[in-house]
Amino acid sequence: MKKHVLLISFLLFATVSFTQVKINKVEPPYWWVGMNSTDLQLLIHGDNISEYNLEIKNSQVKIKKVHQAESANYLFVDLTIPASVLAGKFQIDFKKGQRTVYTIDYVLKERRKGSADRLGATPADVIYLITPDRFVNGDPSNDEVAGMKEGLSRDEDFGRHGGDIQGIIDYLPYIKQTGFTSIWLNPVLENDMPEWSYHGYATTDYYNVDKRFGSNEEYINLGKIAYEMGVGMIMDIIVNHCGLEHYWLTDPPFSDWVNYQGQEENTFTNHRKYTVVDPYASNIDRKEMTEGWFVGAMPDLNQRNPFMSTYLIQNSIWWIEATHITGIRQDTYSYPFKEFMTDWTCAIKNEYPNFYIVGEEWVDSPALISYWQEGKNNADGNNSCLPGLMDFPLCFALHNAMQKDESWSDGLVKLYESIAQDYSYPDPSQLVIFPDNHDMSRIYTQVGDDFAKYKMAISYILTMRGIPQLYYGTEIVMSNTGDDSHGNIRSDFPGGWPNEEVNIPKKVGLSDEQAKALNFCENLLNWRKQKDVIHNGKLTHFAPYKNMYVYFRHTETESVMIILNKNKEKASLEIERYAEMLDGRSMGKDINTGKVFKLNTNLELDPMQAYIIELR
Ligand code: CA
Repeated sequence: MKKHVLLISFLLFATVSFTQVKINKVEPPYWWVGMNSTDLQLLIHGDNISEYNLEIKNSQVKIKKVHQAESANYLFVDLTIPASVLAGKFQIDFKKGQRTVYTIDYVLKERRKGSADRLGATPADVIYLITPDRFVNGDPSNDEVAGMKEGLSRDEDFGRHGGDIQGIIDYLPYIKQTGFTSIWLNPVLENDMPEWSYHGYATTDYYNVDKRFGSNEEYINLGKIAYEMGVGMIMDIIVNHCGLEHYWLTDPPFSDWVNYQGQEENTFTNHRKYTVVDPYASNIDRKEMTEGWFVGAMPDLNQRNPFMSTYLIQNSIWWIEATHITGIRQDTYSYPFKEFMTDWTCAIKNEYPNFYIVGEEWVDSPALISYWQEGKNNADGNNSCLPGLMDFPLCFALHNAMQKDESWSDGLVKLYESIAQDYSYPDPSQLVIFPDNHDMSRIYTQVGDDFAKYKMAISYILTMRGIPQLYYGTEIVMSNTGDDSHGNIRSDFPGGWPNEEVNIPKKVGLSDEQAKALNFCENLLNWRKQKDVIHNGKLTHFAPYKNMYVYFRHTETESVMIILNKNKEKASLEIERYAEMLDGRSMGKDINTGKVFKLNTNLELDPMQAYIIELR
């Protein structure tokens, strides 16, 4: 018996001494010196690593505490990185007694000059939203990646089509020339899921870009090239849920890492967003809203676990610092615990005071959406550092305005009343405004392929307060390719795949309507780029009158009169009704048509027309 024990001891000793310790992950994979916060927490994942003691020698970087998890395969290591530490490597030794059995070289990089002060998106921007898998396939060699669970299937609307980061790099000059100043990519992090992985919302690796889109280097390079062209980049991040194939699901560090972990039947979120703010909400409704899974393939992360919270916060800061991104779009903003969202936004703003973050809160209620914005004095004391939100109420109002005939309660009045509710928001100029996005029917479909209504909708979005966003292909009147299923909304950008006859940037193979739309957008977007009065001017609007909605954007020196005319016959605009905003100006020129108006007489307007009249 003793002999056996000795033999087993020897074998164990041999395993530890001569076999390398197997480390699967060290996250974040590197960090920086000179960050505002001197704290860093490493997640280390490896086979039975909890049995080792850790030590850092010959460095000012100190281990504050090592936390064991419930799984023996994790260690969470609290480090202090004093401001005086220089960029370079330090070593973390894994020790068994006095013996060092493994060493990690951890890299601290120098920060890029100006990184902390980077300017986020502003109302001077117009964002081009891209679904990377469906935009441009710039590198067919990454369409299939060995070892990944889903390959190419371009004929399936839910399959991967092969679009990638290289394609976006290739089309940046086109995006910039068309007049967009920022890009927002649907998520690009790894989604190694067996199906439906193209959309990117089921993260299986928080620190690596999906290889079918490219590499981290390519993504970082895209941001750098865009930055050098004066184009900003917004990263789509999801902290509410991950993908079911994430290794956390098979080896979670803690039993509360994921909400409703290990249950036999999924509990799904009830999507009752008001429960988060409702003073009368029941506990079960609140719990189901924030802890239920978004869908069966997307487990709900528990941000009340402090290690999860730190992991997600550091992950976002890592991507900001590693890239030139100017903003983050946070998916499903109200689904995680609201205390965590405050911690997350404020930690980012602590490092990057001018950075832009926009939250997705898909409801038709300025009262609810405004709850989340920084500066809102909420009765429950919750006050985040979130600069912006997606203006869904304005989007829905625009659909109504374009789809419904004019009446007391439908049509242009919806736009008027939506904007009138801006009193709810601490800062409405920071909202992202949009005619559609990747989750709803394309605007051209929504207006019934009606070119006049399309121009009216785009004219509205590009002259209203806030930060406009258009979905890729809107500039060439892309419509749904079938019903409103996601694949039909997120269809391939024409000419984005090899050997296609269409080439949009070169304006080859466009239909008359596509050419007219592109010309219209180019003209308006490039005009808007220069117009401080649209970016920062005040807004004064007039209640819709005789099927016309009139508003002015104005500064001390400039004024623009916007008219949305929904009359189906020629109409006369009674100019004296608007005298208070004309201030003695006598002439105006319409940006869309070039037509010159004299302001001393009623304006004769064409049917179904949007006018953007610069006053002189
Ligand atoms: Ca590709």
